[in-house]
Amino acid sequence: MLLATDLDGTFLAGDPENRLKLYQLISAHPEIDLVFVTGRGLESVLPLLSDPTIPEPDYIICDVGCTVVHGDSQQAIQPLQGEIDDLWPGEHMVESALASFEGLQRQEVPQERRVSYFCHSDVVCENMRAQVEALSCDILFSAGKYLDILPKDVNKGRTLSRLVEHLGLEPEAVLVAGDTLNDLSMYQHEFKGVCVGESEAALLEATEHQARVFHAGATGCGGILEAFEHFGYLGHAGIDAEIPEYMNSGKSDLVIVYHRLPYEEVIENGELIRRRPKSPNGIIPTLLSFFADGKAGAWVAWSIDDPDLGPFQTHTEVDSGRYEKLVAARVPLSKEDVEIFYKRFSKEAFWPTLHTFWERATFRDDHWQVFLKVNKMFAERTAAEAAENAVVWIHDYNLWMVPAFLREMRPDLTIAFFHHTYFPSADVFNVLPWRREIIGSLLQCDHIGFHIPRQAENFVDVARGVTPLEVTQKMGCAPRFLTYGCAVGLDEMTTEIRVNDRRIGLGAHPVGLDLNRVRNALSDQSVVARMETLREEFMDIRLILSVERLDFTKGIIEKLHAYERMLNEHPELATKVTLLMVCVPAAAGMTIYEELLSQIEQTVGRINGQFAQVGWTPVQFFFRALPFEDLVAYYTMADVMWITPLRDGLNLVAKEYIATQGLTKGSGVLVLSEFAGAAAELRGAILANPHHPQDLADTCYYALAMSRSEARNRLSEAFEIVSRYDIEYWGREFIHAVEQRREGKLKKIVPLGQSAA
Ligand code: UDP
Repeated sequence: MLLATDLDGTFLAGDPENRLKLYQLISAHPEIDLVFVTGRGLESVLPLLSDPTIPEPDYIICDVGCTVVHGDSQQAIQPLQGEIDDLWPGEHMVESALASFEGLQRQEVPQERRVSYFCHSDVVCENMRAQVEALSCDILFSAGKYLDILPKDVNKGRTLSRLVEHLGLEPEAVLVAGDTLNDLSMYQHEFKGVCVGESEAALLEATEHQARVFHAGATGCGGILEAFEHFGYLGHAGIDAEIPEYMNSGKSDLVIVYHRLPYEEVIENGELIRRRPKSPNGIIPTLLSFFADGKAGAWVAWSIDDPDLGPFQTHTEVDSGRYEKLVAARVPLSKEDVEIFYKRFSKEAFWPTLHTFWERATFRDDHWQVFLKVNKMFAERTAAEAAENAVVWIHDYNLWMVPAFLREMRPDLTIAFFHHTYFPSADVFNVLPWRREIIGSLLQCDHIGFHIPRQAENFVDVARGVTPLEVTQKMGCAPRFLTYGCAVGLDEMTTEIRVNDRRIGLGAHPVGLDLNRVRNALSDQSVVARMETLREEFMDIRLILSVERLDFTKGIIEKLHAYERMLNEHPELATKVTLLMVCVPAAAGMTIYEELLSQIEQTVGRINGQFAQVGWTPVQFFFRALPFEDLVAYYTMADVMWITPLRDGLNLVAKEYIATQGLTKGSGVLVLSEFAGAAAELRGAILANPHHPQDLADTCYYALAMSRSEARNRLSEAFEIVSRYDIEYWGREFIHAVEQRREGKLKKIVPLGQSAA
């Protein structure tokens, strides 16, 4: 069958349960062709296409019948569109012909091949009809205020009829649905029809005596469902039996969805061995701590499904001693899926774009398909674990499409999402070919968290380009965050938006540190010994430290150039300073990183070649990952910590340095890029613009020359922030925001049989 339905008042209306039921029914029956037939312009239909809960139409007839396109590509259906275009004299001709009429106000909505005005009924006079007739156009005046000038004989019903003919379908197989006089033309063919509950009286009157037209009692989607039964589509059983029943399927009140398991899996002698992560960064232990009070929960993550290792085990224990009711729920992925989903696609398409390096991104549709498949598997696993009204906390861009799948399966859940990376503005984000799908998915969440206000506001900027939204709550960013003081500062941020009838909370929650991890490292005997050796090695040298992964976002080359500039401008620094650069290798086989590495090595070589003296190496370059304990030893020794990413979600290294210096009562100076998220949070740091070579050199020199007392004051300001907003604070603040959303939702659910009064 083919369901041709009006949108506003019909397919987008009705009580939420009926809407969901109809949408799920259509999704479950691919043999039902769906046509949106609407007065909206095509652009105003696009937001619906990004909403994962609304089934995708096979065809779209919009502009009151003047535009007819394929649902998936939105390309014109020919020759139908060509026939309409031939009849249309053009917008300018219509406007000129009607210019002399007073009381016409052009509607400020997208419109093509028609011109739409608001006006009073008196304005539509014989003279106007004659003018329009002379253009070979039609007038459609409805609801006492909408005036449409359309190509001759073009309307919703006529275009639908041409489409049905074009597709070679029997008119009998078509059900049309509508609610206003605007839809009348659809009922004037041989199709079956339904006027949904509370339709405009004039439509009901006009269709009263048509045997093929059913007047439903329920409004919107409820009326369409009644019509399905009335006309016997799918049979009686079809309507109820086919709807998937996901409700109440799991037992977990909190489900963490993270790409990594909370323990490490290693293969030893052909066997899968589990062990505690060697050096957890604080996030995993913090997330685990939510289950310490015996809360029933699940941790959904992927694991390799390798037939050589025996049958795949979905559920494993995490730590029954500490987290009694927590299970790991594993999503089985093949080696190829992991390679594409995790290592390649996320890094090649999303990582560069998120960090504003979109020119470096590559987009492959086959990889996107794998990404969708894996995200769907995560959503299915989550739906199966979550108890009714549970909280689901999804982490990071690898899992962007999980909310889309999950919301359809489980409307009851409170879905929260945290972005661990930077989030760019629309100018950059919109480069992603799948931006509508991604934003449509994120808008299914109840709360979305970012590190800093700028990233949340960028999200609003992007979302506004995908769908109409209303900002319903804002708040000032100071004093917690910088306002005008850095490139990623902001004075005010959106904390709630409304999209359709859903409210979505937005929050700035910068990830914090586990200070005990730093304390433990500082008391470690091997670290103490290491510090001693370093102290001797750098006795008469000011140490500038730089620690980062090998990545184009980190601004490593720019930093080296600035160092070279500083040595040229301040020859007195020779033999007095050393730049110690720790660069962590990227996964093997990524060519863009290989090029970057060779550039770095060349630059280091050039600087050392030019400035080195006997007994003094200006740049010491370590190309390997150091254990956290070793890093802490370096943090204690560094006079200046030089962190200058071109773009960074947050930057934990900056915080680790502050924590180490603060705990050891040091007087080190942090020079931080104003493009790192942490810059919006860490008062006391010297901020630098890594895109400005002179500024980069000057700020480093300024830090070297700083008096001890100023350095101490700056450090204590930053240390207070790092100590107060630690990783536990992060977890608590986020969950608190999510719980509030959940309570708000539950209050709105009125049990059956009780009135909302
Ligand atoms: N790190 C490490 N060994 C190294 C270099 C870095 O353990 O040799 C750790 C560092 O302690 C920090 C993390 O890697 O916790 C890097 O986090 P950051 O937010 O600074 O940057 P990202 O790599 O996430 O972009």
